[in-house]
Amino acid sequence: MTLTVNDAKKMDKEDLLYKFREEFYIKPNTIYLDGNSLGLLSKRAERTLLESLNDWKEHGIDGWTKGKHPWFFLSEKLGEMMAPLVGASANEVIVTGSTTVNLHQLVATFYKPEGKKTKILADELTFPSDIYALQSQLRIHGFNPDTHLIKVKSRNGRFLEEEDIIQAMTEDIALIILPTVLYRSGQILDIKRLTAEANKRGIIIGFDGCHSIGAIPHSFSEWGVDFAYWCNYKHLNGGPGSVGGLYVNKKHFGMGPGLAGWFGSKKEKQFDMEHSLTPAESAGAYQIGTPHVLSLAPLIGALEIFTQAGIENIRVKSLKINRFLMDLIEQELPHLGFCIGNPEEDVRRGGHVSLEHKEAARICKALKENGIIPDFRAPNIIRLAPVALYTSYSEVWEAVQVLKTIMIEKQYKNFKNEREVVA
Ligand SMILES: *Cc1c(COP(=O)(O)O)cnc(C)c1O
Repeated sequence: MTLTVNDAKKMDKEDLLYKFREEFYIKPNTIYLDGNSLGLLSKRAERTLLESLNDWKEHGIDGWTKGKHPWFFLSEKLGEMMAPLVGASANEVIVTGSTTVNLHQLVATFYKPEGKKTKILADELTFPSDIYALQSQLRIHGFNPDTHLIKVKSRNGRFLEEEDIIQAMTEDIALIILPTVLYRSGQILDIKRLTAEANKRGIIIGFDGCHSIGAIPHSFSEWGVDFAYWCNYKHLNGGPGSVGGLYVNKKHFGMGPGLAGWFGSKKEKQFDMEHSLTPAESAGAYQIGTPHVLSLAPLIGALEIFTQAGIENIRVKSLKINRFLMDLIEQELPHLGFCIGNPEEDVRRGGHVSLEHKEAARICKALKENGIIPDFRAPNIIRLAPVALYTSYSEVWEAVQVLKTIMIEKQYKNFKNEREVVA
């Protein structure tokens, strides 16, 4: 069956989330398919940021406990709002730090090399910042990353096989760090299965949820995941430099933070100013210093939208609109050198389509020139993320038509096949 523009229009009409589109600032004549790198600003996020600025204006120092969004409890409040998105209790989640900082904190807390169990297991497709953090943590402990950071290999350069990861869970592994969703291919790992296997072997396991938070539901607590960390500026639309998030399973509460600071205190004790820390009996214990309030504020509004829309509904639409994009690519762009590099099966694919082409860098530039915003991941990937909350099926149709024209007219040849500073 051939898909037409009318199919797109019909799906837009039937889309239960369509109304949320109006909440976002979408530039006219632009189709934004980069919400997996930086989600768009919503009116609610803008409002809560301005309210927080106003709290400062009105209350000065008293903004910590007064005003519309008291700052002293904001990280906890946001953790509570975010907990349903990762399948955790309210006190297992805290909004603090950034992805990389939180990873450092969690490794400093949970990596306890002992006897033969000294190595960290990761994978060769993971995000570089995670690898840098793990390498430096190993060095701090006096280990050589070349021998102590084990990276599971990919069989095809795109995906990881759960069997291969499980096989690498040997007796010398103390800690496992894996992505929930791979940032290039969008593959979802079987978090439940991997966690069960790690638990069975007494290995601590933590996940980088940057590409799954706000795109797919999780059940971290039920699955027994030890910890996780993520950023809130991608699918969650928290804004550039938005404060990150972390989850720690309640079975670990009471474990002192590896990197301690006064904001990890039990709230009632913090201003006693004692020189011995009484950590919060919650994920709050892993905060370090004063929260970046103005980078937290947009999240209040951004998360309200998720609460209303429901992560299950978001996932249903995300799967459907990404499938529509994949089907259109196959129908409209055959024999043009494209290859879909994300998994085919619904249970294994995250919130974006990973389109491979050897001219990817300059095809991305031509797309931008035409008002379509993708992102490029070296060496050959065009990431396209139709976002459930604000992308329409008609936009996906339009984007593929534009891409087809770019290819047929060879417009991409007007650009250099090199990445920009920020790709
Ligand atoms: C975006 C992203 C990061 C970014 O880390 P920051 O500390 O927020 O800069 C880390 N890991 C993954 C997998 C990402 O996708």
